[in-house]
Amino acid sequence: MGVPKRKTSKMRLRTRKAANRWRAPKLGKCPQCGASVLPHIACPSCGYYNKRQVLTIGAE
Ligand SMILES: [Zn+2]
Repeated sequence: MGVPKRKTSKMRLRTRKAANRWRAPKLGKCPQCGASVLPHIACPSCGYYNKRQVLTIGAE
């Protein structure tokens, strides 16, 4: 059976684990309505993206 030759150091282990650790998403402010929005995603509350309306919000 394959067995590791050396013990994984704490630093090496922690460096590896840090790569897929959960980080809070970077939130921006919608310039139209001021709500917190994810980058590269149209604002869910007013439907604006890149200074123009891209989504229809609300009832018909
Ligand atoms: Zn907005």
